[in-house]
Amino acid sequence: MHCLSCDKKPVISLQQGTLCPSCFASYFERKVYATVRKHRLFSKRDVLCVACSGGKDSMSVLHLMHRLALKQRQRLFALGIDEGVEGYRDRQLEDMASYCDANGIERHIITFAGSFGGGIGPLHARCKEAGHSVSRCALCGLLRRRLLNSSARGLGATRIITGHNMDDEAQTMLMNLFRGGPELAARMGPVSGAAGHGAFVPRVKPLYYCTDKETALYARLAKLRVMMRPCPYRERSYRAYVAEKLDAIEADFPGTKSTVVSNLLGILPLLKREYAGSAIPGCRLCGEPSKKGTCAVCRILGASRSPPDPSGTRSRGRSRPTGNPR
Ligand code: SF4
Ligand code: ZN
Repeated sequence: MHCLSCDKKPVISLQQGTLCPSCFASYFERKVYATVRKHRLFSKRDVLCVACSGGKDSMSVLHLMHRLALKQRQRLFALGIDEGVEGYRDRQLEDMASYCDANGIERHIITFAGSFGGGIGPLHARCKEAGHSVSRCALCGLLRRRLLNSSARGLGATRIITGHNMDDEAQTMLMNLFRGGPELAARMGPVSGAAGHGAFVPRVKPLYYCTDKETALYARLAKLRVMMRPCPYRERSYRAYVAEKLDAIEADFPGTKSTVVSNLLGILPLLKREYAGSAIPGCRLCGEPSKKGTCAVCRILGASRSPPDPSGTRSRGRSRPTGNPR
């Protein structure tokens, strides 16, 4: 077997054929930059915040968007959220910080401890004591999204770039179809989130058309230092269940994930027109975007919240946040 574009030994087999390492890397990069242009994910005037966990997806997107931002002379910074999972996220964020420092990228790390008064373990325990039935991962995701939006905004970002890829999007689409509703699907797409509130920073996904397998290979070929081991707190989630089934269907019927995503894109304009146009009021306690009078974070953490730890923000680069952006 040969690479589709040259005679070298292939490293990956895609629907259109096999590719060698260097042809694959060029193909991947072209696809990512084309996604930015096609969906107008951001303009040269935007301040870009790359949400970076230190995993393969976010490190790959940071690597590529940093190159683009340098070329376009625009401000980009990496933002990591440390949920307090020792031996896991702290290690990943160390890798992210070394990559940023080696490449002159402004970076910030915001901790749950600094913002909510504890890591995810103690916070979840306190929530359970207070009678909330939220799972640890659901609480973690809720708090992470909140910190990401408020911290990116506090640091001046006008776009949050995430490492979500095609697998993530196809899984989310099916999850919304099976258990969610059309209003949740209306928030999906290459530019996503609950638009309709001035405090909300739009989230964009340059890896939208890249599969998990392609991104893992790209991260390896680009020699990005990433930890592949999962979080020790990871629970058997509905997403993991859907991901497993979808992988099995993809193995039998290649192209299924791509079809799910293109079908979503086909109906997205209709969904957005129907469900995503209305203005979202702010939470009466914290002012963050919330459809209900009190947002989920204030409802869940309200009584069990401890005072924030002022040492919880670590930054390096052109600008520093003032205190803990919330
Ligand atoms: Fe948080 Fe769960 Fe992810 Fe661990 S696996 S980082 S606890 S959401
Ligand atoms: Zn609130």
